[in-house]
Amino acid sequence: MELVLSSLSEEELEDVVRENERKWISKGIDSAFNMINSSMTNTIKGFRVVNEQAGEIEIDFEWYKEMSKAFVCITDKNISDLEFDCDCSLGSSGGMCGHFWLGVIFSFKKNFFNISNWTLFELPQEFIRKIENIEIIETKSGALLLTDKASDNFLLQEYIGSEISVKNGEILRSERKSYEYEGKETAYYLLTLKDAIVEKKTVPELTIRLSEGLYTKNLLKIGDRIEVKGKLIKDKFQGLLVKFIRHVTIGKLEKSKVKSITKDKHWTLKSSSNANKSYTITLKADGSWSCTCPQFTFRKKQCK
Ligand SMILES: [Zn+2]
Ligand SMILES: [Zn+2]
Repeated sequence: MELVLSSLSEEELEDVVRENERKWISKGIDSAFNMINSSMTNTIKGFRVVNEQAGEIEIDFEWYKEMSKAFVCITDKNISDLEFDCDCSLGSSGGMCGHFWLGVIFSFKKNFFNISNWTLFELPQEFIRKIENIEIIETKSGALLLTDKASDNFLLQEYIGSEISVKNGEILRSERKSYEYEGKETAYYLLTLKDAIVEKKTVPELTIRLSEGLYTKNLLKIGDRIEVKGKLIKDKFQGLLVKFIRHVTIGKLEKSKVKSITKDKHWTLKSSSNANKSYTITLKADGSWSCTCPQFTFRKKQCK
């Protein structure tokens, strides 16, 4: 590296440095926007204004499962020599990590400084344009977060960590997932609901997690409209997700359909243990179920 650099003219060297700087800046900005919009690696717990007058803020975040902090102070007074400190590996070695950029955005949104006073280096136009859509919000649990009005998550950001009711969501997709825990396979379903109503807002797409038991008990299928209550969380891999659902109500639309059945309805299902056997499930006019499988007839238990 040294050899290559020493063979460059001063002008060329400056270009290399500037090019590198640009690369690091856009990397940090991308990381900040990733943290605002999803939560792939580290979850931001919240921003805190430590000293409003001095423009001092702290950011709480999880870094490799450890609670960590970043301190940022950017005001019109100190803008050419701003203060920044971060626990993450890049930040603690003096780099401009995503947390730095989160601090820049938050401080700017708090009006601690005017963007036209920024002289440290040239801010990318893309960044200035993008932060127009960023807003500070307070979640129900009182944490301050940044939200991107241009992102899908925007509508529900303030309910993260809270119990929410999801109404009239149409099942758009369903995916069975399973994992092994203490030698036992546990399965669950991830359902994507279309146009669900959450706290009077219509959410274009929302993912919910249902236990396999709940999924099969309700005989759910694509196109069903359902109502659930659960906790909205920000999952590392799924993004926003409604979890801890204990009950599913088939929407009014479906219920009225069930009520209008005057004749018994029958379905034939292949046995899961013997491919030559099949059972008939009956939905009676009174809305009760019965099944010809041994589990239902002999044990009087609710089967699938
Ligand atoms: Zn950092
Ligand atoms: Zn059965």
